[in-house]
Amino acid sequence: MPILVMKFGGTSVATLDRIRRAAKRVGREVANGYDVIVIVSAMAGETNKLVGFVDETGPFFDAREYDAVVSSGENVTAGLMALTLQEMDVPARSWQGWQVPVETTSAHASARIDAIGTENILSKFGEGMKVAVVAGFQGVSPEGRITTLGRGGSDTTAVAFAAAFGAVRCDIYTDVDGVYTTDPRICGKARKLDRIAFEEMLELASLGAKVLQTRSVELAMRFKVRLRVLSSFDEFDENAGTLVCDEEDIVEKNAVAGVAYSRDEAKMTLLSVADRPGIAAAIFGPLAEAGVNVDMIVQNISEEGRTDMTFSCPTNQVVRAEKAMQGAKEAGEINYSELVADQDVCKVSIVGIGMRSHAGVASKMFSALRDENINIKVITTSEIKVSVLIDRKYMELAVQALHDTFGLERAG
Ligand code: ASP
Ligand code: MG
Repeated sequence: MPILVMKFGGTSVATLDRIRRAAKRVGREVANGYDVIVIVSAMAGETNKLVGFVDETGPFFDAREYDAVVSSGENVTAGLMALTLQEMDVPARSWQGWQVPVETTSAHASARIDAIGTENILSKFGEGMKVAVVAGFQGVSPEGRITTLGRGGSDTTAVAFAAAFGAVRCDIYTDVDGVYTTDPRICGKARKLDRIAFEEMLELASLGAKVLQTRSVELAMRFKVRLRVLSSFDEFDENAGTLVCDEEDIVEKNAVAGVAYSRDEAKMTLLSVADRPGIAAAIFGPLAEAGVNVDMIVQNISEEGRTDMTFSCPTNQVVRAEKAMQGAKEAGEINYSELVADQDVCKVSIVGIGMRSHAGVASKMFSALRDENINIKVITTSEIKVSVLIDRKYMELAVQALHDTFGLERAG
């Protein structure tokens, strides 16, 4: 039998009613002739509640016990989903990560999947079981301890199962009906995309689109797992949602697939640093060691051997960055007159694999921003992305203007 992976997120299993609704969809796919692996998240809000309990025990908790606690939400939904399916006469049973087994690294709270044993589940399918309900987000370390994969990790569980079992597709059921050209909350003309390429989705996920965990997209791209994102609340439709797929499967490649934004950016400028070999290493080494996620970097031209170095990082890492720079200055590794932190900025990006073949995409973006009188503070580009840092108060205007400029209301 061909295998289908179906993943249900927290809002899709938030109540017994919703679990029943999800189970019906599973039943339909069984009737369509699939052996189904269902990956479930914890009921909406459950994981946050469990994390809160752990936080209350004290600031220096044992990460192994954190994982033991926060992984438990998925165990509940897995059991309830299996019971609901059995009630509908669908042969099903639940599996916790260690039972499969889902073997992971020992990096508690952010473990990576090393291997998934397929034997146990396949032999049950062989005996007539139709649905394996697997608790997402969790696995077992080489030491035999329970691990979790980081927040949003059930997406990664689902894709890893689809790859390991050679599933025909991995359907991710969530509370939105697909991937949009931009956030519909700030741009009324946003459109749902029928298809998006892995690489585009990867960029959008890393830029903060919350619909899929970034690692799940990485994995899908590597193993060429066809991913479909769709809503568990809409009526059933074979072509629902957005298919995340290989770029060869997309016939019409627009220059730009989507516009993304991030509010939580800060622009940091080190004024008057010595322009000498090794200066970038002396600045960004300590920042990396301090765990600062530097994104954009600009080094200005120098005058009389001094230059300004600008970089961006998440707003909640500004203090950490300042400490790291202060420390490097005191240790005599770098010298600068001042570190200026501008927290009233945001990042707006356009993403599209079509950029590789369409010339002038970046300049079209810059003209659109000029027409709105928006000043650009920092620019970075990659093969399929152009990002700009601008004043935060212009964020929505910029997103809307770019959406118009690239004709995204006609996408989908
Ligand atoms: N329940 C976990 C979380 O809230 C994992 C997941 O739902 O993907 O992060
Ligand atoms: Mg999620």
